Amino acid sequence: MKNLYIKTFGCQMNEYDSKRVSHQLSSLGYSLNDDIGVADIIVLNTCSIRQKAEDKVYSMLGRLRPYKEKNPDLIIAVGGCVAQQVGKKILGRHRHVNLVFGTKNVLNLKKMIEKIEKTGGRYVDVGANVIRDDTIDEKMDGYMVGAKNSVTIIEGCNNFCAYCIVPYVRGRERSRPEERILHEVRTLIKHGAKEVTLLGQNVNSYKDAASSSSDFPKLLDKVAAIDGLERLRIMTSHPKDLTDELIDRFGAIDKLCNNIHLPVQSGSNSVLKSMNRNYTREDYLSKVEKLQKVCNNITISTDLIVGFPSESKKDFNDTLALLRQVRYISSFSFKYSVRPGTKAASFDDDVSNSEKSERLEELQTLQKKIQLEENKKLEKRVMEILVEGASKSGENMITGRTTCNRVVNFTGDESLTGKIVSVNIEESYLNSLLGKLV
Ligand code: SF4
Repeated sequence: MKNLYIKTFGCQMNEYDSKRVSHQLSSLGYSLNDDIGVADIIVLNTCSIRQKAEDKVYSMLGRLRPYKEKNPDLIIAVGGCVAQQVGKKILGRHRHVNLVFGTKNVLNLKKMIEKIEKTGGRYVDVGANVIRDDTIDEKMDGYMVGAKNSVTIIEGCNNFCAYCIVPYVRGRERSRPEERILHEVRTLIKHGAKEVTLLGQNVNSYKDAASSSSDFPKLLDKVAAIDGLERLRIMTSHPKDLTDELIDRFGAIDKLCNNIHLPVQSGSNSVLKSMNRNYTREDYLSKVEKLQKVCNNITISTDLIVGFPSESKKDFNDTLALLRQVRYISSFSFKYSVRPGTKAASFDDDVSNSEKSERLEELQTLQKKIQLEENKKLEKRVMEILVEGASKSGENMITGRTTCNRVVNFTGDESLTGKIVSVNIEESYLNSLLGKLV
């Protein structure tokens, strides 16, 4: 076997694509190895959502040069959003890179690597607009099925939020055919999966073009009806497309976990407007209220941007107030950074970097306080945990998640992986809980 090392940056869509990369290259004799020093192929699956994420990619590319000098046969491939956006310039700036492949070209990877293996050369493959209609090979070679897995149901985005590069690098929305999705979920379950997350930049706008009666709530019903599936999650939901019909599913479908990632980005109406988010603070809060009504123990996580152009201190305080009201169990928060090509790149980036840093710190301090308080409420409660495998938190420890998406570590045998067990929560920390098997 030859060794494949993959470094994945960014979101769950990239994680999913990395699995596809590994699956494709397994048929060429490559197996995943997390020791970069023995790699025959190194794949960087990149993210360009923020300047910082992009900088990390270039820094890692620089660090790969010595590996190529040591092993000239080493193949280095760069995929993901930076690859899609920057394309052949990567080959120009980094002479040790063999291949640049785009977000829509993952399915061509096997062919491209075969070509490089046979004839050498350096290539760029970012052009095609391939609709993701592949299905998982029944043998599942190179595709690691764990207790929990993801299935992409829709790619791309039509929303053009002013700050976001995704519609430019991932293209317009393309929903996968329903039958392919159901087949993929069934196949994963056959190979041991217990939990599936349906993935997309905006899962709520899922629609199978071949079926007049298909939409996201109906897809949820069909996936939930699959025998052997224990838990179902969704990621990510645009608040403007979170319909009452979809909200009702959180009360009606037992397998649908009581957690939703609902990116708010800002608590200020004027900032939301200039971000082109197409909902108001009031719309958002009303949807949160409806969710809590149909599923009273639902937990919510979110994404936040501070220091968006023209964000005043009052706007920022509105965001803090929203945090206090919703009480998110986790959040991803960032300082605004200009992404060339987006609408906001033409705005005056008028909040100073030091002000952005101060606001981010204040927001994250508040979020940590809320998060810990929410986690503390779970102490002494017995919770159902889907065991995902060995925990890094200590010897003989295993880890899993609650349906409300908290990570729980506890002493137990790895053979429990894939099982749902009852755990008494003994201590709560910021990002995890410590429990005891009941
Ligand atoms: S909904 Fe907005 S933030 Fe999300 S991917 Fe689409 S454009 Fe980007």
